Order: sequence, then structure tokens, then C-alpha cells
Amino acid sequence: MRLKVLGAAGEVTGSSYLLECGGSRVIVDCGMFQGRDDEKKNREPFLFSAASIDAVLLTHAHLDHSGRIPLLVKEGFKGKVMTTLPTVELVRVLWHDSANLMKEEAEWKTKKNSRKGLAPVAPLYSVDDVDSAAKSLTAVGYDEKTGVAPGVSVRFRDAGHILGSAILEVWLEEDDKQVKIVFSGDLGPQNTVMERTPAIISSADYVVIESTYGDRLHKNTGESRAEFHDVITSALKDKAKVFIPSFVVDRAQRILYELALLKDEGAMSSGVPIFFDSPMGVKATEIYRKHMNLLSSEMQQYLSQGKDPFAPERLKYVSSVEESQAINSLKHGVIVAGSGMANGGRIVHHLKHGIWNPKNHVVFVGYQAHGTLGRRIVEGEKNLRIAGEDVTVKAQVHTINGFSAHADKNDLLAWADNFATSPLFIITHGEPASSLALSEALKDAGRTSAIPFAGQEIELEPNGSASVHRMTPQPIVLVKEEVSGILTDIQSLALKLENNSVSSGLDSLVPLLKSSKILLETAYDRMTGSRPTD
Ligand SMILES: [Zn+2]
Ligand SMILES: [Zn+2]
Repeated sequence: MRLKVLGAAGEVTGSSYLLECGGSRVIVDCGMFQGRDDEKKNREPFLFSAASIDAVLLTHAHLDHSGRIPLLVKEGFKGKVMTTLPTVELVRVLWHDSANLMKEEAEWKTKKNSRKGLAPVAPLYSVDDVDSAAKSLTAVGYDEKTGVAPGVSVRFRDAGHILGSAILEVWLEEDDKQVKIVFSGDLGPQNTVMERTPAIISSADYVVIESTYGDRLHKNTGESRAEFHDVITSALKDKAKVFIPSFVVDRAQRILYELALLKDEGAMSSGVPIFFDSPMGVKATEIYRKHMNLLSSEMQQYLSQGKDPFAPERLKYVSSVEESQAINSLKHGVIVAGSGMANGGRIVHHLKHGIWNPKNHVVFVGYQAHGTLGRRIVEGEKNLRIAGEDVTVKAQVHTINGFSAHADKNDLLAWADNFATSPLFIITHGEPASSLALSEALKDAGRTSAIPFAGQEIELEPNGSASVHRMTPQPIVLVKEEVSGILTDIQSLALKLENNSVSSGLDSLVPLLKSSKILLETAYDRMTGSRPTD
């Protein structure tokens, strides 16, 4: 019995694991890498033959867990993708959106390439690929133990992260050995607002645990809610527009609910129009509404008063482009639109038309990654090029940080504390500092843990914590050709800069490049006892 870590090791995206048990091979999640330069990584061949896989278990719909499944099907996977019913419905929507975005991007790159006489670019997968992958989606209920493949069974438990999200309890049986491995998936906080609290699981030999916020604490719900209410009510006093860039699955529904509460309390005039401008968001909200019974007790109470949490008074769902453009001519209202980091989607057009106006407000309600338009606005850049136009930022910018759908450090520890057995915690889905902080906190709590690297294989034995000694890291191998290739690149860049020093003003980088060349040569020498350029 073996676990192979295929992604989300030392980073947050690209979640994927291979489980081998007897002759059965099962993939848990098959996610996309979503960093700035990860396009190449998504195109790398799988480390296994797609046709040899018996089944895929999917924890939740987010693309960093599901985004490469259409590719897996395209490459010959013939089994079932087992997941909860809301995930089946949400992932179809997310895959379609992703395929359409990739199509647009490939067309744009192809156009650029053709001017340089370069080859056309094909998207990773097409809408047709998504349609055939969707046929393999198979819904399973929460809390029922289900057979997956010979020797492998699974139970999906609520993870409290987004609608349909699951923790997986997986049982492996080979000869007379039985091992239980639990995958936390992405775990919600202990005090959730929309989702139910993550299921308590008390036994396992191994627990693969996420660590996105393994080194941080979030503000509590009351604090973030008060902050959001203050920002929105004071912004509305200007009788102008409030733009809220938001992920349109889960975060946007939470925002609609918070706005509904504001209207209920009378803190926001019932006359203020609210626009949820996102065709994908409209579809996602329908799915949320269909599965209200799976949401938190706070949601159940709201519903029991005969109210719809995702329909604040004067809300308008916007799908068509014409309706979206019509919002530009309005003077006053709240506009919720994707994408959450303003690096695409309809929010970009709304910002272009309104961010120059000092009476308007922009409220960010989620993480803004480096390099995105959202991050640049948050960091106070005043002159931006938005959707092909130069725009001066004069609107007031606010950031609300507490609406995370992820457990923070204390939430992760509280969930881990439920295990009455002594599992080995395998820490993934986090930047190295977050994973390390969680590992140290688990150690303080008397737990055993390990942080695997991408590609690491772990032999699974009953009583996981006893097997930690056998997780020896593989030596890093520096390939001579690769190293000398890098050295040549450094050398030629240094030469270019030296020759253009007057015009580029970058000559101060030359000594830096030269010392990195020496460092790399020394590292190679230490490891192999030879020179890379010999
Ligand atoms: Zn997620
Ligand atoms: Zn994730």
C-alpha cells in the first residue's frame, strides 16, 4: 500500500495524490497549478498512465483540486470521478468557465505568435473535453461508506470549506492488512458562517492535512462582519458606487448574505440597488440554493424565517453583456462581480468606468495574489492600465481580510485534536513556512508529522506514526546539462547588461549575476565533486 504525493507539496495549488493498494490505483484530487508561471507545470505529463487509474476521488470543486481531471479523461482515464452531488454540479460550471478562459488565452497567444512566425498555441483542454469528463462524474452521498476499487473504500464527510466540500476517509485493504488514511481536503474554519462545521473524525493511521494558514490566525466572524458593515455603510453615504471584486463561487454568496443582513437591520437603505454581475455566479448561486439543507445552522435559521440569504432586497442578477454595460450609467449602487483578484472578468470593466471617481469605493473581500490588478490597487498604485485604457485611481480602497473559507492555525489544530489514535500527519497544501509552523504546533501537541516533497512516495503501514522513520528524503540530483544551461544563461544575461549599461541602467545587477554564477558552480562542485562546465 502506497501514497504518492503528486502536487500541493511546498505550495498551495496542484493538489493530487496517487493511492496504490493491491492492483488498485486511485487518484485523490487532480488539481491545477495556479501560480504565475505554472502554465508549463499543468502541461507536464502525468507521472502515471491515465488509463491505469481505476477511480478519482474529488474533495471539492475548486480548480486547484479538480482542474486537471478533464485532461486525465482526455488522456485515457475511463473510471468514475466520485464526489458529492453539489461538487458534481459546481465543478461542471467551473470547468466550463476554465475551458472558455483557456480558449481565449490560447487564441490571444496564437495571434501574438503568428506575428513572430511562431507556432499556434492549443488550450490545455476544450469545452468538448470538459463535456466528456463531466460524464464520468458520479455523485455519492455524505457519510456513507462506498466501495471505490478492489481493496479501497471511501466515506465523504463535510469539510465546511465550500458547498459540497469533503474530508475523505479512505480504507485500504491488502492481504490481511488494513490502513485508514484521511484526507482533510481544504478544511473550513471551526466557526463557519455558511457551511457546516468540519466533520469530527477520531481514527486514522494517516492524515493528509492542508496547511494554507498553518502559520496565521484569522479575525473572528464578529470582527470581520463588523468591519464589512462599517465599510459598506460609510461608503454608501457618498451616494456613489461600491465595487466588490469577489470569487463568484462561495465568497460572492457570503457577500450577498452579509448585504442581506445589512438591509434586514436597516443599516443599508432598502432602496440601494445591488448587482451580482456574473453569469457563472448566477449558476453557482442556483446550486447553493438547491442544497440549502447542507448549509450551516445560521443559514437554516435564516431560511426558517422565510428569507432567502442570497437575495437581499433590490438585488439584480446580471447575466447578459447589455445588462452589465447598463450598470455603467448608474450613479449609485453596489456591484459584486468576478474575478476576485480583478485580473479578469466583468469587474475589470466596472473598475475602468468607475475607479477614477473619488466618490466611489472598492472593497476587496479576499486574498490578492502578487501581480494581479487587485494587488496593485490594494498596494496603492495610482496610475493603472485597465482593459486597454490608462486610468487614475481616485476611488477609496478598502480590504476586509476575515472572510476566509479556510481553517486558520488554531482551527487546524482543533480539528487534528479530534483524533484519538496516533496518526502520522502528512502536511501539504501550504507555503513551506505555513507547513513548517503547523508541523511545529502539532509536535507541541504531541503529534507526529511529516512534510513531503512533490513526488515523494510513502509506504503505508497500520499505525502511521511508527512509519515516519522510513520517510527518508530522496537526495537532490543536480543534472549537469541543466546546471551548465543555467550558467550559460546567467553569463549571457550579464554580458547583455554590461554592453547596454548606459541605456538600461541595470549595470548594478551584473555583479549580482556574477556572484550567483559562482555560487551555483560551488554548490554543484560540493555535491558532485566536479565542475559543471568541465
Ligand atoms: Zn478549496
Ligand atoms: Zn485548495
